[in-house]
Amino acid sequence: MTLRTQEAQISGSNLQQAELEKVMVELDIVKKQSERLDLINKLHARMAGVLSLTGMIEAYSVWLMPRVNHELIGYNNSSRKKRHLFCSGHGPNRRKAIAFAEQLIENKSPFEGSFTKKDGRCAYKWIFETVDDAGILLILKKGHELSPEEINLINHSLEILAECLRRGLAYEELFERASNDALTGLSNRRVFEERIYGMMESAKRHHHPLSMISMDLDKFKMINDNLGHQVGDEVLKSVAQVLKQAVRSTDLLIRMGGDEFLLILDNTDLQNARILAERLCVAVDALNIWADDATKLGVSIGLSQLKQDESLKQWLERTDDILYLAKAEGRSRVVME
Ligand code: GH3
Ligand code: MG
Repeated sequence: MTLRTQEAQISGSNLQQAELEKVMVELDIVKKQSERLDLINKLHARMAGVLSLTGMIEAYSVWLMPRVNHELIGYNNSSRKKRHLFCSGHGPNRRKAIAFAEQLIENKSPFEGSFTKKDGRCAYKWIFETVDDAGILLILKKGHELSPEEINLINHSLEILAECLRRGLAYEELFERASNDALTGLSNRRVFEERIYGMMESAKRHHHPLSMISMDLDKFKMINDNLGHQVGDEVLKSVAQVLKQAVRSTDLLIRMGGDEFLLILDNTDLQNARILAERLCVAVDALNIWADDATKLGVSIGLSQLKQDESLKQWLERTDDILYLAKAEGRSRVVME
């Protein structure tokens, strides 16, 4: 073999080596693309059955965690008044992470660009800007910053997340419309029917007291007749507001229709329900609404506690009879069984 042919062979094998390396790099890219597609499909699958925004943020966090370790994921949509924060931590750390996220969302501790750092926490912000939706995604992480690869993965997942969040927003809005009374914003009869059986069953099983406060405004028709239907509507809204302020979040407050409201008090006996009912009576009186010079708006209240062997129909009828007594005895008062 001549020197020339040897040189040609060496440069030929160098060429082959370079070609091979190029192919290997391309192979690696295709493999990574396929892996990413697989990950994205898994995200799609995880989000597919979820309807609520809270469920979506939680599902996204669970999907992301093994790939990108993080402490908190937050979603905020100020135009739709939606905020969901999902934090994997516990105790004081959790409280600190949530407080930090809230500060960031409310711009009290603003970002420089899309990244900021405080007390060993890194915070990242992504903005969704599509035609019918705007919101931000917030990721908090303790310790070192996200790597470019981690950021890349999040960027790739955002399109799917945004699509799911749009679905979640639409679902929640429809759900709220179906659950809330349009005038007062209180829960409606549909919610009552959906929740009451579960509450009754649980109260009976655990022998917890369950009380019902049934309310009907006094002489409300006179307000409509003397001051107009629109004023009547405003009065109903004011009453609803007063009732709402007085109850706990675990209580079920419903506008049953017209000037009738119902309050179901979980784990509350008659004595305690009575204290609240008296307060509601005083609060409506304190609104100081008059239908005419002699007629002040009040509320009549019937109060009862669920009996162990009672059906919903029986319980409602019994409470209605008690409410009727409150009307018959002169209105603007609480009567209990
Ligand atoms: P009572 O003291 O016996 O309860 O008499 P009342 O005048 O309050 O009359 P009642 O409870 O029998 O009827 C409630 C009235 O409320 C009937 C209806 O005209 C009026 N109403 C029902 N829904 C609405 C509403 O959405 N807006 C307004 N403005 N009025 C309503
Ligand atoms: Mg009435």
